[in-house]
Amino acid sequence: MQHIWDLVVVGAGPAGSQAARTAAARGLSVLLLDQEEFPRPKTCGGLVSAKACAALGLTLPAALGERRIEGVRLVGPDGETALAQTAPFLGWTVDRAALDAFLVEEAVRAGAEFRPGAAFLSIENAASGHISLRTSRGNLRARAIIGADGSSSSVARALGQGRSLPAWRTALALSAMLSLPAPRVEEVFNGGRTVNLYCLPLPYAFGWAFPYRERVNLGLGAWAGAAKALPQLMAGFARQLQLSWGITPQAVHPRGAYLPAGGLTFRPGRSQVLLVGDAAGLVDPFSGEGIYFALRSGQLAAETLVGCLATAGAPLTSAARLYAAACRRELLGELRLALVLAIFTGTKRHFFRSLSARPERLELIVQIMTNPRAYRTALLQARQPGPPARSG
Ligand SMILES: Cc1cc2nc3c(=O)[nH]c(=O)nc-3n(C[C@H](O)[C@H](O)[C@H](O)COP(=O)(O)OP(=O)(O)OC[C@H]3O[C@@H](n4cnc5c(N)ncnc54)[C@H](O)[C@@H]3O)c2cc1C
Repeated sequence: MQHIWDLVVVGAGPAGSQAARTAAARGLSVLLLDQEEFPRPKTCGGLVSAKACAALGLTLPAALGERRIEGVRLVGPDGETALAQTAPFLGWTVDRAALDAFLVEEAVRAGAEFRPGAAFLSIENAASGHISLRTSRGNLRARAIIGADGSSSSVARALGQGRSLPAWRTALALSAMLSLPAPRVEEVFNGGRTVNLYCLPLPYAFGWAFPYRERVNLGLGAWAGAAKALPQLMAGFARQLQLSWGITPQAVHPRGAYLPAGGLTFRPGRSQVLLVGDAAGLVDPFSGEGIYFALRSGQLAAETLVGCLATAGAPLTSAARLYAAACRRELLGELRLALVLAIFTGTKRHFFRSLSARPERLELIVQIMTNPRAYRTALLQARQPGPPARSG
């Protein structure tokens, strides 16, 4: 008789590992599978915000943190103006391959079994209290499934929720690594503690340069409709940055990936098959941050399933509805406001120019990295009557 897992988690990025760790720690039998062998490369800026570090609920090992971030510098469209904001802790830059491998280890430590090199292929049937699923390494049976398999999720497609999104609902981001000696990293990035964000002349676009120990992660993201323009923009952006740092420009070889623009698209899954992270469409459309939303949705999905399995009268088939309600309460309000801000600011150069009239908006960048309710708090503050205007 084939074993029936309480939970099979498909995809071992931050969303899947967090879900697997949470569920295993609460006593479920959990199988975490990924199509890749680990550690595997992952295209990412590797900035784990302070709010993501808090959501993780684990201390990152010292070897994993490349640079502790305490400041943000916003560079204007003409490159000449830079505004800096500091805070005691804004996050860590990390190598994503190493972070994801660490999170898998933590899930295993909590009791989950990890099966690398196993791709999810299809759901065979969903009857009699368990689901059969086909993978490249054989068939499995589970009482529930979490699809954490990224923005082109096969689990979402198996549920009929994975149709490709139009370009205006999607972002494309490119990133590349550049070697830079540690003392130069420290000079350029204010002791290695500041991340640089660049306002670029494309809708919703911004560029970044994040300090690592002896490397810089640079990249840019924009709406996917501008995809054709991005490689050239990236080449010019990388060249300009290197010249401004006083180094001879070397060609960069960026890798790219599509991201869902959160706030419009939300795919919670169906019945006892839940979608989390990028697979659920949970990425901040203003900042491009996805790791925080992956961790939180992974945790919410696992907690929902644990609750359903433990509570008589809460059938497992109601899990998707309960999980969707939890995401709406905690995450979607935030993503919708981020989307409104992204649309209203248009290109980030408008956002940058508005800072001279509304300097408090710079504080919003720090809030986005530290406060899970950043956009809602900013909206409340904007609605509060200000001090009476001075006359004369
Ligand atoms: C260029 C770029 C830069 C970014 N920079 C940042 C940043 O600095 N900070 C930030 O917070 N966010 C950033 N993001 C967003 C962030 O990378 C994602 O939001 C985050 O990785 C989502 O995590 P996830 O676990 O949902 O999915 P993923 O990390 O994509 O993990 C999905 C996993 O599923 C596996 N998988 C896929 N299909 C299958 C299958 N059929 N069967 C089994 N396994 C499968 C994959 O191998 C993968 O391991 C960036 C994104 C891009 C593209």
